[in-house]
Parts: sequence; C-alpha cells; structure tokens
Amino acid sequence: MQRGKQLSRQEILDKALEKELKYLKKKIYYRQRRSLLYDDIRIEEVDFKNNETAGLYEYDEKNFTHVIKISSEELDREIARGRKRVDAYTRFLGLTLRDIIRHELVHAFVTERYQHITPQIGHINADASPIFLSVLTFVKGKTNHDCKWAYKETDLYKEVREITDYADLHAKLIKLLMEYRKVTDYFSQDETVIRLASGIHFNFSPRSPGLEKFTQFKTDYKIRSGEKIVLQEAKACRFNIGCNVKPEQIIELVKRKLKNNEEFKYREEKVVYATVKNKEVHILKEDKKVYNNL
Ligand SMILES: [Zn+2]
Repeated sequence: MQRGKQLSRQEILDKALEKELKYLKKKIYYRQRRSLLYDDIRIEEVDFKNNETAGLYEYDEKNFTHVIKISSEELDREIARGRKRVDAYTRFLGLTLRDIIRHELVHAFVTERYQHITPQIGHINADASPIFLSVLTFVKGKTNHDCKWAYKETDLYKEVREITDYADLHAKLIKLLMEYRKVTDYFSQDETVIRLASGIHFNFSPRSPGLEKFTQFKTDYKIRSGEKIVLQEAKACRFNIGCNVKPEQIIELVKRKLKNNEEFKYREEKVVYATVKNKEVHILKEDKKVYNNL
C-alpha cells in the first residue's frame, strides 16, 4: 500500500502506542466502559547511548504521566522492518516495537492497579516481580530479562497460563498480595524488630528471581552523658522479592539470610559520637563506611 505521506518518527510511535492501548484494553477490560490507565501517557524517542536498553518506563510525577521511552535504534529497526530491510532474526525473533510498548505499558498498568494494595512492598512493577510477570504473561507480552526462565518454572506461571479472563487473574493476584502482606505485617511487629535487631523492608526485584539481600543501613550511637557512655544500635535492611519466592518462604529465608555470609549489595555503617548536654544531643563526629556492590 502506498502512503500519501510518510509518517514522522513521533507519529509512528504515537500510532503504535494507540494500537497497543487498544489491544490491552480489549484483553483486560473486554466490553467494560473504562480505559486501561487513569493517568496520561506519553511516548518518546530517546538515544540511550548504549545498545542494551530498547525501551524504558518512567513515571513523570510532576505531571502525573506515564512515560514510555523507546531507543532510537529500536525505532530505526522498526522502520527497516516495515520496509522489510532486515534480516530474518530481526524480523521474526527480536522484540518488535509492539512488544516493547506492550512490556512498558504493563509496567504502567501494574503500578496503577496493584501498588496501592501493598504499599509496604515497593516496585511492584519491577521486571522480576511476580505480579508484573503474571500480567505480562496474561497479555502475551515479552521480556528479555533472564528472570523469565525462572518464572516459567513456577506454579504461578503454570496457573496464569491457563487463565483466560482477567477478572480471574485479578482475584489471584490480590490473594497473592494478601499473602505478601502477612509477611510485611510480621516484620513490622515490634517483637520481630527487637528479636532480629533490625527493621526489615521489602521491594520487588528488578532482576533476580530469588530473595536478594539488597541494602543494609546500620548506625552505632556512642553517647556520653555525664560520666557514662550509652551505646545504641539502629539497623534497617531491605530485601528484594523475585518471581520465584513464595510468600510462605520469606520469613524463614530472611532469618536464614540475616545469619549467613552472603553480603548485602549495598551496606552503610555509621558510628555517631555524641554528648548530651542540658538534655540536648550534640553530635561530635561521624564515621561512615560504604560497601557498594550495586
Ligand atoms: Zn521492563
């Protein structure tokens, strides 16, 4: 078919986005009078200056807008694909612009639909989050992250693959999130914090399918009050929950991992020296060490 006018690069993106929004709306909210997303959405071309990133999802908090960024290289490839000027690999096996947009839209959708249900666990739309991967599977989306192989081993994947109605998937995910919620409730109890001598927090995982020891912040206070020195310790750490970790495994896994030799990816240790004078704390000096393996 001959087109009267060549589409601009932005028009190609906008059109592809519109098409994907339509597809997902039909897949998820079939015959319902609601749109896929509440917030505005914008798509733009970006030169990422590396060949690894094909697309990226971000949230523009200032404008309450989902932003999908597509690499210039992928857009070039898509245009070449349209003109059939690509090799068979790119034509059939690489992620197409449609695949990338679908993937990024699922990031947006999962945030809107599920993050508020368990605000205690951040990054619900992360690439190795079981919630993200389940919705992605349901809409026949793709990902080029390695965690997909691990996810395909899970019972969750096998169940999700059988689901044809989004309402059933939604019910399943809510039930799953309630199970994670029990875990965060357990770790927020004062007794638990005291017993483990640490606050324990969680995010869903960006890459790893397992339970990842992510960050730890520790502060030792040495406070001189009159003749005496009072020692106090404050500790908080964060674990990333990957797609292969079942909620019922987490409590034991965390306890085991707090004791084993595996390092946190990022660790900060601080010693604060202070005195108390007239009931006010004056910091004399601080000593901070950072171990960064991120
Ligand atoms: Zn992603």
